[in-house]
Amino acid sequence: MDLSIVVPIYNEEENIPELHRHIAEALDASGLDYEVVLVDDGSTDHSFSLLKEIAGKDPRVKVIRFRRNFGQTAAMAAGFDAARGEVVVPMDGDLQNDPADIPLLMARIREGYDVVSGWRKDRQDTFINRRLPSIIANSLISRMTGVHLHDYGCTLKAYRREVLEGINLYGEMHRFVPALASQVGARVTEMPVRHHPRLHGVSKYGISRTMRVVLDLMTVKFLLSYSTKPIQLFGKWGIYTLAASFLTGGATLYMKLFEHMSMNRNPLLILTGFLLFMGVQFIVLGLLGELNARTYYEAQAKPIYVIRERINVGDRGPGTGDR
Ligand code: UDP
Ligand code: MG
Repeated sequence: MDLSIVVPIYNEEENIPELHRHIAEALDASGLDYEVVLVDDGSTDHSFSLLKEIAGKDPRVKVIRFRRNFGQTAAMAAGFDAARGEVVVPMDGDLQNDPADIPLLMARIREGYDVVSGWRKDRQDTFINRRLPSIIANSLISRMTGVHLHDYGCTLKAYRREVLEGINLYGEMHRFVPALASQVGARVTEMPVRHHPRLHGVSKYGISRTMRVVLDLMTVKFLLSYSTKPIQLFGKWGIYTLAASFLTGGATLYMKLFEHMSMNRNPLLILTGFLLFMGVQFIVLGLLGELNARTYYEAQAKPIYVIRERINVGDRGPGTGDR
């Protein structure tokens, strides 16, 4: 099968019939062999019965229903796990993404890319609480992960399935998949896609999402740069703060011996104690992190590297670099 389309759905009853029609219209002409995986993320309206009806009529449609609302990331992860196509394309279920872009994304994948990220160049959302935070978030994410994309938040993207197999999603992390994929060596590019205003139903997010994105970005940055070597991050700061404490401690002593300034009246003494304490904490945190990293990788026989191909090397079972 060429393609799996994965759609997370949470209370989209007005959009579902049209969604299915749009997908079928856009893809039947393309000649692609495809399936649609619709994931009902615990909807409380009639979304599920509509999905069931569609699946009854169209055997290319698979439906997964969650017991409660687990969030868009979980819904997408469930869809990715069920997907059987060579290429997996997630898209929103609210008709804001346009299925007519899917064949174009597929064409870019065929050029040899592993990830093609949609870019809502002409985004149809309000400026102040949606587009502005998104511009800031995208430049921040690009700079911190080193994977430069204009629109991390666009759900419409295309992934070669084997790239997704090595990636586990937690929290709100679906938007970081291109950065995580690039970490395991995927070739990533982006492409402008269409975007439509939401006509039915309401957006499931508000401005509070910005905060969650920033927190997730910290996690992703840590995972990308230091998950196999936490002491390199914490130990570095530990050494800096210890060095600073020796400087302030030395200055306190110098003032006492040569300028007759009483040590216990000198605020630098408190700073010295504080920095010393912090430095030791950082280093201990780094060592604990190292222990944790070993548990994380070795308990699951996860390698710390990813192999693209092997020539004349036998497959030795677990720990072979196929994440
Ligand atoms: N969604 C979901 N679970 C949630 C929230 C959203 O499956 O907890 C789905 C929603 O039905 C839609 C997609 O995720 O298909 C994007 O949501 P929305 O359109 O509300 O986000 P926006 O486009 O406003 O960023
Ligand atoms: Mg939307």
